Amino acid sequence: MSENPLQVLVQTFEKVSYSIQHHLTRFIGLHLQPVSSAKAPLFSISSSPHKFQSAKADSFVQPDDILLKIKSAATPVTKEELGRATWTFLHTLAAQTSQQRGLFSQYPDNPTRQQKKDVKELMGILSRMYPCKECADHFKEVLRANPVQAGSQAEFSQWLCHVHNVVNRSLGKPIFPCERVDARWGKLECEKNACEVLGSTGFDGD
Ligand code: FAD
Repeated sequence: MSENPLQVLVQTFEKVSYSIQHHLTRFIGLHLQPVSSAKAPLFSISSSPHKFQSAKADSFVQPDDILLKIKSAATPVTKEELGRATWTFLHTLAAQTSQQRGLFSQYPDNPTRQQKKDVKELMGILSRMYPCKECADHFKEVLRANPVQAGSQAEFSQWLCHVHNVVNRSLGKPIFPCERVDARWGKLECEKNACEVLGSTGFDGD
Protein backbone atom coordinates (compact mmCIF):
# COMPACT_ATOMS: atom_id res chain seq x y z
CA MET A 1 0.00 0.00 0.00
CA SER A 2 1.31 3.48 -0.82
CA GLU A 3 2.32 5.87 1.97
CA ASN A 4 0.03 8.59 3.19
CA PRO A 5 1.23 11.74 1.32
CA LEU A 6 0.62 13.88 4.40
CA GLN A 7 2.81 11.59 6.47
CA VAL A 8 5.60 11.89 3.91
CA LEU A 9 5.23 15.67 4.03
CA VAL A 10 5.42 15.73 7.83
CA GLN A 11 8.49 13.49 7.83
CA THR A 12 10.20 15.75 5.33
CA PHE A 13 9.34 18.76 7.45
CA GLU A 14 10.85 17.07 10.53
CA LYS A 15 14.05 16.38 8.63
CA VAL A 16 14.29 19.98 7.46
CA SER A 17 13.59 21.32 10.95
CA TYR A 18 16.28 19.08 12.43
CA SER A 19 18.74 20.15 9.78
CA ILE A 20 18.10 23.85 10.44
CA GLN A 21 18.55 23.38 14.19
CA HIS A 22 21.69 21.33 13.66
CA HIS A 23 23.33 23.93 11.42
CA LEU A 24 22.24 26.83 13.59
CA THR A 25 23.66 25.31 16.75
CA ARG A 26 26.90 24.38 15.00
CA PHE A 27 27.14 27.92 13.68
CA ILE A 28 26.93 29.44 17.17
CA GLY A 29 29.02 26.70 18.75
CA LEU A 30 26.37 24.90 20.78
CA HIS A 31 25.89 21.19 20.61
CA LEU A 32 22.68 19.35 20.26
CA GLN A 33 21.80 16.73 22.76
CA PRO A 34 18.86 14.91 21.35
CA VAL A 35 16.73 13.05 23.86
CA SER A 36 16.01 9.64 22.61
CA SER A 37 16.38 9.46 18.89
CA ALA A 38 19.40 10.60 16.92
CA LYS A 39 17.21 12.93 14.94
CA ALA A 40 15.42 15.27 17.31
CA PRO A 41 13.88 18.26 15.58
CA LEU A 42 13.55 21.73 17.07
CA PHE A 43 9.91 20.96 17.49
CA SER A 44 8.21 17.84 16.39
CA ILE A 45 5.04 17.09 14.59
CA SER A 46 3.42 13.75 14.97
CA SER A 47 3.31 11.69 11.81
CA SER A 48 -0.37 11.23 12.30
CA PRO A 49 -2.31 14.00 10.61
CA HIS A 50 -3.80 16.88 12.65
CA LYS A 51 -1.76 16.06 15.78
CA PHE A 52 1.08 18.40 16.79
CA GLN A 53 3.18 17.65 19.83
CA SER A 54 5.74 19.82 21.53
CA ALA A 55 9.25 18.53 22.09
CA LYS A 56 10.57 18.10 25.63
CA ALA A 57 11.78 21.53 26.68
CA ASP A 58 14.97 20.38 28.41
CA SER A 59 16.26 18.46 25.43
CA PHE A 60 16.76 21.40 23.13
CA VAL A 61 18.86 24.51 22.98
CA GLN A 62 17.01 27.25 24.79
CA PRO A 63 16.78 30.82 23.43
CA ASP A 64 18.50 32.01 26.64
CA ASP A 65 21.52 29.79 25.86
CA ILE A 66 21.77 31.29 22.41
CA LEU A 67 21.54 34.85 23.76
CA LEU A 68 24.19 34.09 26.37
CA LYS A 69 26.50 32.71 23.70
CA ILE A 70 26.01 35.73 21.43
CA LYS A 71 26.56 38.13 24.36
CA SER A 72 29.82 36.50 25.40
CA ALA A 73 31.09 36.58 21.79
CA ALA A 74 30.34 40.30 21.50
CA THR A 75 33.45 41.76 23.08
CA PRO A 76 34.39 45.39 22.48
CA VAL A 77 36.55 46.09 19.44
CA THR A 78 40.27 46.58 20.10
CA LYS A 79 42.31 49.60 19.02
CA GLU A 80 44.05 47.38 16.46
CA GLU A 81 40.82 45.98 14.98
CA LEU A 82 39.34 49.45 14.77
CA GLY A 83 42.51 50.72 13.10
CA ARG A 84 42.60 47.92 10.53
CA ALA A 85 38.90 48.40 9.71
CA THR A 86 39.32 52.17 9.35
CA TRP A 87 42.42 51.92 7.16
CA THR A 88 40.57 49.34 5.03
CA PHE A 89 37.70 51.74 4.55
CA LEU A 90 39.98 54.69 3.75
CA HIS A 91 42.32 52.86 1.35
CA THR A 92 39.37 51.24 -0.40
CA LEU A 93 37.76 54.63 -0.81
CA ALA A 94 40.99 55.98 -2.29
CA ALA A 95 41.80 52.97 -4.47
CA GLN A 96 41.24 52.76 -8.16
CA THR A 97 39.31 49.57 -8.04
CA SER A 98 38.86 46.90 -10.61
CA GLN A 99 35.26 46.44 -11.67
CA GLN A 100 35.51 42.75 -10.95
CA ARG A 101 35.49 43.49 -7.26
CA GLY A 102 32.07 44.98 -7.59
CA LEU A 103 33.00 48.36 -6.12
CA PHE A 104 32.42 51.21 -8.52
CA SER A 105 32.18 54.44 -6.64
CA GLN A 106 35.63 55.17 -5.32
CA TYR A 107 37.30 58.54 -5.43
CA PRO A 108 37.31 59.73 -9.06
CA ASP A 109 40.25 60.72 -11.27
CA ASN A 110 38.74 64.16 -11.69
CA PRO A 111 36.92 64.94 -8.46
CA THR A 112 34.52 67.84 -8.28
CA ARG A 113 35.12 70.69 -5.88
CA GLN A 114 32.48 69.14 -3.60
CA GLN A 115 34.20 65.72 -3.64
CA LYS A 116 37.53 67.29 -2.67
CA LYS A 117 35.78 69.18 0.12
CA ASP A 118 34.07 65.97 1.29
CA VAL A 119 37.38 64.14 1.59
CA LYS A 120 38.94 66.96 3.59
CA GLU A 121 35.92 67.05 5.86
CA LEU A 122 36.01 63.28 6.27
CA MET A 123 39.60 63.43 7.44
CA GLY A 124 38.81 66.37 9.73
CA ILE A 125 35.86 64.51 11.25
CA LEU A 126 38.01 61.43 11.70
CA SER A 127 40.60 63.45 13.60
CA ARG A 128 37.88 64.77 15.92
CA MET A 129 35.54 61.80 16.29
CA TYR A 130 37.70 58.71 15.83
CA PRO A 131 36.71 56.50 18.76
CA CYS A 132 40.26 56.16 20.10
CA LYS A 133 41.20 59.48 21.64
CA GLU A 134 44.95 58.91 21.57
CA CYS A 135 44.73 58.02 17.85
CA ALA A 136 42.46 60.97 17.03
CA ASP A 137 44.78 63.44 18.76
CA HIS A 138 47.76 61.97 16.98
CA PHE A 139 45.96 62.07 13.64
CA LYS A 140 45.19 65.78 14.16
CA GLU A 141 48.91 66.44 14.34
CA VAL A 142 49.54 64.23 11.31
CA LEU A 143 46.96 66.18 9.30
CA ARG A 144 48.40 69.51 10.40
CA ALA A 145 51.84 68.47 9.14
CA ASN A 146 50.41 66.74 6.03
CA PRO A 147 47.38 68.60 4.69
CA VAL A 148 44.98 66.47 2.64
CA GLN A 149 45.93 66.17 -1.02
CA ALA A 150 43.01 64.95 -3.06
CA GLY A 151 43.25 66.61 -6.45
CA SER A 152 42.87 63.22 -8.11
CA GLN A 153 42.44 59.57 -7.22
CA ALA A 154 46.17 58.96 -7.59
CA GLU A 155 47.08 61.93 -5.45
CA PHE A 156 44.62 60.99 -2.74
CA SER A 157 45.69 57.33 -2.55
CA GLN A 158 49.37 58.34 -2.39
CA TRP A 159 48.72 60.95 0.25
CA LEU A 160 46.76 58.42 2.31
CA CYS A 161 49.54 55.88 1.98
CA HIS A 162 51.99 58.50 3.17
CA VAL A 163 49.96 59.48 6.26
CA HIS A 164 49.36 55.83 7.09
CA ASN A 165 53.13 55.42 6.97
CA VAL A 166 53.55 58.38 9.31
CA VAL A 167 51.30 56.53 11.78
CA ASN A 168 53.16 53.26 11.08
CA ARG A 169 56.48 54.91 11.80
CA SER A 170 55.27 56.38 15.08
CA LEU A 171 54.10 52.91 16.15
CA GLY A 172 57.34 51.22 15.11
CA LYS A 173 55.58 49.37 12.28
CA PRO A 174 57.13 48.66 8.86
CA ILE A 175 56.77 51.30 6.16
CA PHE A 176 54.54 50.31 3.26
CA PRO A 177 55.90 50.85 -0.29
CA CYS A 178 53.41 53.35 -1.68
CA GLU A 179 54.02 52.35 -5.30
CA ARG A 180 52.18 49.14 -4.37
CA VAL A 181 49.16 50.80 -2.89
CA ASP A 182 46.92 50.17 -5.91
CA ALA A 183 47.99 46.56 -6.07
CA ARG A 184 47.21 46.14 -2.39
CA TRP A 185 43.94 48.01 -2.32
CA GLY A 186 42.23 47.34 -5.58
CA LYS A 187 43.53 48.51 -8.93
CA LEU A 188 44.91 45.16 -9.94
CA GLU A 189 43.26 41.83 -9.62
CA CYS A 190 45.29 39.83 -7.17
CA GLU A 191 45.40 36.10 -7.65
CA LYS A 192 45.24 34.24 -4.36
CA ASN A 193 45.94 37.34 -2.24
CA ALA A 194 49.30 37.93 -3.90
CA CYS A 195 48.90 41.68 -3.40
CA GLU A 196 48.42 41.24 0.32
CA VAL A 197 51.67 39.29 0.47
CA LEU A 198 53.50 41.92 -1.57
CA GLY A 199 52.04 44.78 0.41
CA SER A 200 52.67 43.30 3.80
CA THR A 201 56.11 41.86 3.39
CA GLY A 202 57.75 44.12 0.88
CA PHE A 203 58.40 47.08 3.14
CA ASP A 204 61.35 48.81 1.58
CA GLY A 205 60.91 52.49 2.09
CA ASP A 206 58.24 55.17 1.94
P1 FAD B 1 47.31 48.53 9.85
O1 FAD B 1 48.26 49.65 10.09
O2 FAD B 1 45.95 48.66 10.45
O3 FAD B 1 47.18 48.35 8.26
C1 FAD B 1 46.25 47.46 7.71
C2 FAD B 1 46.82 46.93 6.40
O4 FAD B 1 47.07 48.05 5.55
C3 FAD B 1 48.18 46.26 6.53
O5 FAD B 1 48.02 44.90 6.78
C4 FAD B 1 48.86 46.52 5.19
O6 FAD B 1 48.49 45.51 4.26
C5 FAD B 1 48.23 47.82 4.74
N1 FAD B 1 49.09 48.98 4.94
C6 FAD B 1 49.97 49.23 5.93
N2 FAD B 1 50.53 50.42 5.78
C7 FAD B 1 49.99 50.95 4.64
C8 FAD B 1 50.15 52.18 3.95
N3 FAD B 1 51.01 53.12 4.35
N4 FAD B 1 49.45 52.38 2.83
C9 FAD B 1 48.59 51.45 2.37
N5 FAD B 1 48.39 50.27 2.99
C10 FAD B 1 49.08 50.03 4.11
N6 FAD B 1 47.11 53.03 16.90
C11 FAD B 1 47.82 53.41 17.98
O7 FAD B 1 48.23 52.57 18.78
N7 FAD B 1 48.10 54.75 18.20
C12 FAD B 1 47.70 55.72 17.34
O8 FAD B 1 47.95 56.90 17.56
C13 FAD B 1 46.93 55.33 16.21
N8 FAD B 1 46.46 56.26 15.35
C14 FAD B 1 45.65 55.87 14.32
C15 FAD B 1 45.09 56.84 13.48
C16 FAD B 1 44.22 56.48 12.47
C17 FAD B 1 43.56 57.53 11.59
C18 FAD B 1 43.92 55.10 12.26
C19 FAD B 1 42.94 54.71 11.18
C20 FAD B 1 44.47 54.15 13.08
C21 FAD B 1 45.35 54.50 14.11
N9 FAD B 1 45.92 53.54 14.94
C22 FAD B 1 46.66 53.93 16.02
C23 FAD B 1 45.77 52.10 14.64
C24 FAD B 1 47.00 51.60 13.84
O9 FAD B 1 47.31 52.46 12.76
C25 FAD B 1 46.79 50.20 13.24
O10 FAD B 1 45.60 50.20 12.49
C26 FAD B 1 46.71 49.08 14.26
O11 FAD B 1 47.83 49.12 15.11
C27 FAD B 1 46.66 47.71 13.55
O12 FAD B 1 47.85 47.60 12.75
P2 FAD B 1 48.14 46.49 11.69
O13 FAD B 1 49.60 46.15 11.83
O14 FAD B 1 47.18 45.39 11.76
O15 FAD B 1 47.98 47.16 10.24
